[in-house]
Amino acid sequence: MMKRVIWLISGLNRRMMKLLFALALIAYIASVWGTYTNMRSIQEHGEMKIEQRIDEAVAPLREKIRDLEQSFSQKYPPVKFLSEKDRKRILITGGAGFVGSHLTDKLMMDGHEVTVVDNFFTGRKRNVEHWIGHENFELINHDVVEPLYIEVDQIYHLASPASPPNYMYNPIKTLKTNTIGTLNMLGLAKRVGARLLLASTSEVYGDPEVHPQNEEYWGHVNPIGPRACYDEGKRVAETMCYAYMKQEGVEVRVARIFNTFGSRMHMNDGRVVSNFILQALQGEPLTVYGSGAQTRAFQYVSDLVNGLVLLMNSNISSPVNLGNPEEHTILEFARLIKSLVVSRSQIQFLPEAQDDPQRRRPDIRKAKMLLGWEPVGW
Ligand code: NAD
Ligand code: UDP
Ligand code: UDP
Repeated sequence: MMKRVIWLISGLNRRMMKLLFALALIAYIASVWGTYTNMRSIQEHGEMKIEQRIDEAVAPLREKIRDLEQSFSQKYPPVKFLSEKDRKRILITGGAGFVGSHLTDKLMMDGHEVTVVDNFFTGRKRNVEHWIGHENFELINHDVVEPLYIEVDQIYHLASPASPPNYMYNPIKTLKTNTIGTLNMLGLAKRVGARLLLASTSEVYGDPEVHPQNEEYWGHVNPIGPRACYDEGKRVAETMCYAYMKQEGVEVRVARIFNTFGSRMHMNDGRVVSNFILQALQGEPLTVYGSGAQTRAFQYVSDLVNGLVLLMNSNISSPVNLGNPEEHTILEFARLIKSLVVSRSQIQFLPEAQDDPQRRRPDIRKAKMLLGWEPVGW
């Protein structure tokens, strides 16, 4: 009997123990779950707090970035909006130079996409730095003597040194730039079906025997003189344009540019305008080469740029003179600058430069009649 009672109690105990154990286990799991969910909510709360604090710290930085972005977008000169249909992809070789950078400004402000290609021989990055970062602008450091593969609709081919000391500094390079460089740009125009405008020069008329010079005149150039690398280089460049037009159907425009002046001319490039102004400002003698009886006519750069754009978008494939027909002797010009700067500089006569053209004045009837263009000054 006693044994039975003990067995019963121990049986009950075992069951009780099992029950108690199960209850304890459930209680433990519940408590662990509770702690876990509690911790999670603490953690989530903590995370939220951290996020909130990060947000609070970052908010003023975000505002600063927005302000900076706005100030960056405001730093560009105003640009017109052009629809996809009217917006062109335009390459300007030599676009960091004097004329090229003004052309860049006009085409950018007109709303086009502009790619400037320049090797910075005479050009400067700072001439176009106000466009760097703009979504419509790209600057490529590249020598046009090397092939170039990009996609464009129009090419303004200006790459070439333009001032006599610059183009005489390395005549072989001047020749390569004007011949191989132009060949490459024509090859590019052919491949992508772009129209190419060549920045040619009044130098194709050499030391002219016809005055004023019209586009029919073939010129008078010494092929082996010191100016030949430039003059003959540009003449070959013109010849190449018409060979590509006739043989390959490339659309070409040829601007024969006469003496031009304006801001961003390199002060030390040796051209007469920059030389005389610098000399007058520094009180140095104004250096007149020869007697000063040789003549030139100067147009302002904004007139030239307008003419280039008009010509590019015209249907005139034959050469067109762009220049100011107001002709002055170099001596008159030296006196004018001296008086405008109110300078005490003397005029100094130096030996005449070899093959220096004696008279130069553009006949601009063609530009007037076909483009409605004439210089208006500044
Ligand atoms: P510039 O010297 O200021 O500009 C020429 C630009 O071409 C420079 O930026 C130079 O770095 C670049 N360049 C030269 N060789 C290059 C090469 N191999 N590859 C890439 N870039 C190269 O001269 P500018 O007065 O602005 O003249 C521009 C164009 O207009 C030239 O083709 C010049 O012959 C022609 N032009 C100018 C005048 C004038 O009075 N300014 C007159 C007649 C013709
Ligand atoms: N070229 C270039 N970019 C192009 C296409 C051609 O620079 O997009 C160069 C090419 O390297 C060549 C020159 O332009 O030296 C003339 O090209 P073209 O196709 O007329 O002549 P080819 O290549 O048949 O000699
Ligand atoms: N010239 C000058 N003094 C100078 C620079 C140039 O008398 O310091 C003369 C030069 O001999 C030429 C004219 O000014 O007759 C224009 O020269 P520039 O080099 O500006 O242009 P380009 O000869 O190409 O027309």
